[in-house]
Formats: sequence, C-alpha cells, structure tokens
Amino acid sequence: MKNLTKNQVFKYFEENNIFFKIHGKIEEMGYDRSKPIFITNWSGVPEEVKERIEKTMDYEIGWSDEWMSCSICDNAVRSVPESFMWEPSYIIREREGGIICRTCVQDGEFELLHGYLNTTTRAVPSWAITLLQNEGFYLYSDMGNKTTYVSGLHDGMNDRPDQILDKIVKETENQDFFAKYNYVFAVRETSSYCSIWSLYIKKK
Ligand SMILES: [Zn+2]
Repeated sequence: MKNLTKNQVFKYFEENNIFFKIHGKIEEMGYDRSKPIFITNWSGVPEEVKERIEKTMDYEIGWSDEWMSCSICDNAVRSVPESFMWEPSYIIREREGGIICRTCVQDGEFELLHGYLNTTTRAVPSWAITLLQNEGFYLYSDMGNKTTYVSGLHDGMNDRPDQILDKIVKETENQDFFAKYNYVFAVRETSSYCSIWSLYIKKK
C-alpha cells in the first residue's frame, strides 16, 4: 500500500464502505483554520492511508465521534472537550436541531439568544458574552455585589441557576423579576474542577 495516490486513498474508503467527511475549515480555537479536516472512524484504517491523508494531502485528522458540522457553514467544530479549559465553539440550535459555530454566530448569521433566553438549563459560552452585552444585557450583581457563581467538585461549589433566581426574587422583594427582566446565564471560566458562571439581565 506504499505510495498511494489520492484516488487510491478515496477508493480505499469507498471499497471498504467507510464513511468519511471532509470539512473545508475548522471553527475551533487552537486549530489551524486554513486547513481542511478529514473526519472518519480511524480504527482499522491502515497507517499508510492515514499518513498519506495527514502528511501528503495535508488534512487535519479528526475522529467522527469528536466532531460536528455547523448547520450554516458546514465547517467542523469539536463536539467533545479536549482539555479541562475547553468550552464549546458552538451554540445549540434548539428549534431546528443541530449546532451553529462561533463564527456564524459572531457574523450575525444566527440569533444567539434563541434557546438560551430565560432558561436555567443552558448557559452561553464565555465568547458569547460580548454579543450579549451588544444586545443590552448586563452583568447581574446581587446585594453583596456578588457577580459570579461556582458549580464544581469541591465543597461549597454548589451554586445552581434555579436557586440563584429564587434568591433574587426573595432577597430583592422583586416578585415581578420575571415580568420585568429577560435573563441569560453565561459561562465565565471552566477548569478541571469547576465552572464559574454569571447571570446577565436586560429590562423587557
Ligand atoms: Zn458556521
């Protein structure tokens, strides 16, 4: 299988009925965005084939269970973390399904808040905070000037979005908080043992 031609490489996948996908671009932090990516299940693929794709054809190599496609631009984004600091480079498209990459969201191709507005079950990634602020949302600060909450593995890292909202309503005697404000939770920072997040609000 030495010195495979490009055609022979593609033929190998075809003849063995192995699904693969090529994305023109990777929309993920820390990757070369000028390189296309070749995604498949590599287990069982001969080393010569893989090497040819990676070295001579100059594709980034990706496992099919670690990557997804943006529903707008079809570029590749990681679906699973690769480090403790990792945050998704995408947002979830709730109604139609699928995901939208960071670049498409930042370019205004998709309404960020759809799926993240007024819910305690999802938080936008930290890169989207600027977009929230552009929409007029601002960081909520409680009566003790606290602006961040922590969920994690250690004792005391047990803040929960639903409880934070309950507290806001009680503490400020602001019973009509939900009538008056729209809110979005946002991740500020992630690490190996915790996630730090905040609440952003905007008057309705
Ligand atoms: Zn995209």
